[in-house]
Amino acid sequence: MTIKTRFAPSPTGYLHVGGARTALFSWLHARKHGGRFILRIEDTDLERSTQESVNAILEGMTWLGLEYDEGPFYQTQRFDRYKEVIQQLLAQGDAYYCYCSKEELEQLRNEQMANKEKPRYNGKCRQTANISEGQQPVIRFKNPEQGTVTINDLVKGDIVVANKELDDLIIARSDGTPTYNLTVVVDDMDMGVTHVIRGDDHINNTPRQINILKALGAPLPYYAHLPMILGADGARLSKRHGAVSVMQYRDEGFLPEALLNYLVRLGWSHGDQEIFSIDEMIEYFDLADVNVSASSFNNEKLLWLNHHYMMTKDPAHVARHLSWHMGEQGLDPALGPDLIEVVKALRERCKTLVEMAVASRYFYTEFDHYDEKTAKKNFKPETCDILKKLHDEFSLLEQWEGNPLHQVVLKVAEDLALNLGKVAQPLRIAICGTPVSPPIDVTLALLGREKTLKRIVKAIKFIKNNTDT
Ligand code: GLU
Repeated sequence: MTIKTRFAPSPTGYLHVGGARTALFSWLHARKHGGRFILRIEDTDLERSTQESVNAILEGMTWLGLEYDEGPFYQTQRFDRYKEVIQQLLAQGDAYYCYCSKEELEQLRNEQMANKEKPRYNGKCRQTANISEGQQPVIRFKNPEQGTVTINDLVKGDIVVANKELDDLIIARSDGTPTYNLTVVVDDMDMGVTHVIRGDDHINNTPRQINILKALGAPLPYYAHLPMILGADGARLSKRHGAVSVMQYRDEGFLPEALLNYLVRLGWSHGDQEIFSIDEMIEYFDLADVNVSASSFNNEKLLWLNHHYMMTKDPAHVARHLSWHMGEQGLDPALGPDLIEVVKALRERCKTLVEMAVASRYFYTEFDHYDEKTAKKNFKPETCDILKKLHDEFSLLEQWEGNPLHQVVLKVAEDLALNLGKVAQPLRIAICGTPVSPPIDVTLALLGREKTLKRIVKAIKFIKNNTDT
């Protein structure tokens, strides 16, 4: 049997981390078993579904690298098929038209609430259709009245639900459009889904879906309901906790590997291992190891993972992602040193790609201001002599490389009988505008001779204009 899983988001917003985790677990289960992973866009709610959300979901999946083998399928393109199945259920006596009006149902609901009963449809039209003129009927599924439904949940274990707890749910609205529980069942059946992996907010739907599948004579898939994700404060993760959209994590400078590694550990573990390459995730992932209880989101850990991947991934790979962030910062990576070298120079001190793009600014563009506090402290009238000497030495240097550059700075310090910091720090501010940069020789090597000399001249002018000489 070929294992088939699916991710079935409703395009009513961005791809959030909860959805991404569901997609990841479904993808991993398929990849582990040589199976197929389907993407299905559940867009039947015409009022809430938008093309923008579809694009956001596709973009998120691509950025995370969760490639699908089939789809994307769109439910709005399958209405004929849903109609066909609804007709089949009607024809075989497993569904019926219901003419109960809104007011009638509202009254029933109020009565049940007053009697402290669970609000549910009373099955009035189940035996005899009470056709009422001018009232467009809905179609309800005839849920079995006796017996139980068992969900053999791969995460939560067996869950038994009595059929008398379930009422006859609406499978087609009065305008003829199918409802969620019907479309999901038809799609899972037609697409040969063997494992339904989804958030446990759907667990109440599962017994109803099982009953419809049984009525259609379809094989039952396995179910795995994933516990929800909480914010650090214990409340269900929401926008209030900061970023919850996958693309916002991209925007904030996270590598997809870091987010995937973070997500895989949200509710799943393999011993006490924290770092997982994609290959390891596929090798070790097992639905049986998914936690039963909810897991909490921890931004610090995500940052830690991001730094880990920035440090250990091939710098060329990091550079490819950094390049996008450079654009976001208005920087053109072609106007400065090789990005791969910049990644190597900056990765130790940056936890996100945004930090790295910001920190690389002076390599790619001229700056107008010097960091005020440090300029005040380091730019003194006598600094001009130091900078001038550096300028002269740098102009003559044959090899513009780390070690010779380091030697120049050492020599100037020695010649002027100053300690290294008294030379390196004004130089750093002169060429970077800020007091923070990689080691001075690395910074100089990356910046190149031309920019270095120009910026030293500019700093000398600045000092002359701003200090009383
Ligand atoms: N479309 C549903 C949602 O976005 C998921 C349905 C399912 O996985 O069965 O919540």
